[in-house]
Amino acid sequence: MKFNKSEKLYKKGLKNLVGAVNSPVRAFSSVGGNPLFIKKAKGTKITDVDGNEYVDLVLSYGPMILGHRHKKVEKAAKKALKNGYSFGASTEAEIKLAKIVCDAFPNMDKVRFVNSGTEAVLSGIRLARAYTGKDKIIKFSGCYHGHQDALLVAAGSGLATLSLPGSKGVPEGAVKNTLIAEYNNLESVKKHFENDDNIAAVIIEPIGGNMGVVIPQNNFLKELKDFLESKGALLIADEVMTGFRSKFGGAQELLGVTADITCLGKVIGGGFPVGAYGAREEIMQEVAPLGGMYQAGTLSGNPIAMAGGIATLTELKKQNPYEKFEEIGAILEVILLETAKKYNVDLVVNRFGSMLNPFFTNVEVTNFEQAQTSDTQKFAVFFWEMIKNGVFLPPSQFEAWFLSSALSDKDIQKIANAVDKAMYKVSTI
Ligand SMILES: *Cc1c(COP(=O)(O)O)cnc(C)c1O
Repeated sequence: MKFNKSEKLYKKGLKNLVGAVNSPVRAFSSVGGNPLFIKKAKGTKITDVDGNEYVDLVLSYGPMILGHRHKKVEKAAKKALKNGYSFGASTEAEIKLAKIVCDAFPNMDKVRFVNSGTEAVLSGIRLARAYTGKDKIIKFSGCYHGHQDALLVAAGSGLATLSLPGSKGVPEGAVKNTLIAEYNNLESVKKHFENDDNIAAVIIEPIGGNMGVVIPQNNFLKELKDFLESKGALLIADEVMTGFRSKFGGAQELLGVTADITCLGKVIGGGFPVGAYGAREEIMQEVAPLGGMYQAGTLSGNPIAMAGGIATLTELKKQNPYEKFEEIGAILEVILLETAKKYNVDLVVNRFGSMLNPFFTNVEVTNFEQAQTSDTQKFAVFFWEMIKNGVFLPPSQFEAWFLSSALSDKDIQKIANAVDKAMYKVSTI
């Protein structure tokens, strides 16, 4: 397998782009080598500029849940394109997508569309503060909520991969209202409330996806919600990754917990830049033009993106692939674990529906600290061997792998073969 053209583009890209990438997770910092440049993708396959074809388990970090270039999504976007790209005024498509989204989440009467997950979360946080009149936010170590200043502390994969404690350029003042708790540890949340009545909300990835996949244990989310209610603080579910992916109604539907404010992104745009935040009527009344919380966007509700989102969610609802995801996920989990056993490699697999990933560790992973016991060098070897055998994975131990509804038995067979080769290679180092 050759990567000559990718290598050439990488070198060329270094001149005017930072690290030749527009998002650091795309750099191959933690696995070594140069990032691949992609030419095209279709269905479950992605092809790099050298013509190498891979089964794609990155799926643009989640959005391409139907596989690439689903014909209905493509048709809808093309149709919208003909009418113009952006108007700075309302369109019917926004109302349609809003209805689909609000119908999917029981505690959401109104929604506001933005252009990314980061924007969705920073707006959701502002909303929680506006509604409660309080300043502080609790986040969990290892959870990532986009790159806004206030939440760039103890923030999961991108940062873990680069081993940065937080980020340069974030002033102390910007994080002074951010408190950190430990995932799956309610006591660590309660402690913050002991001497503090200025906490507006707790934000959580209801299924952790940015420290690798980490699953809420027992009744953690329910108990968290009950506790917050008793304290008059809000629960913000950051479902940018899990919304429409874990279930149509996101992780909340699956786990039987309703958040006060829900943030969405990724799947909601089907590959186009869409984010959203929503809540029940009384909370959304705070948002301008109804209320005094300002939040705006020149390209928000972009007609092409809305068309892509509507088509993606409509098709997703029709296909209802969530059982299929569960089955495929279980198959991949078994493949990974049995292959690891065959070659005597320590491995833990965490999985929730269509998100899963192996950790090269022998420690059960229920929080960020445990995730970090993973051997990232082993992952790097594993990663490159998977690439060489035709499977495209996120280039980090701490990123989830994503499944699409387009995956076929043949794809799974290809993944299984690659896992066998890759795990063998890991066992030899
Ligand atoms: C990806 C992600 C974000 C950020 O979304 P962007 O579209 O990259 O800005 C926020 N929260 C979670 C849970 C995510 O997975």
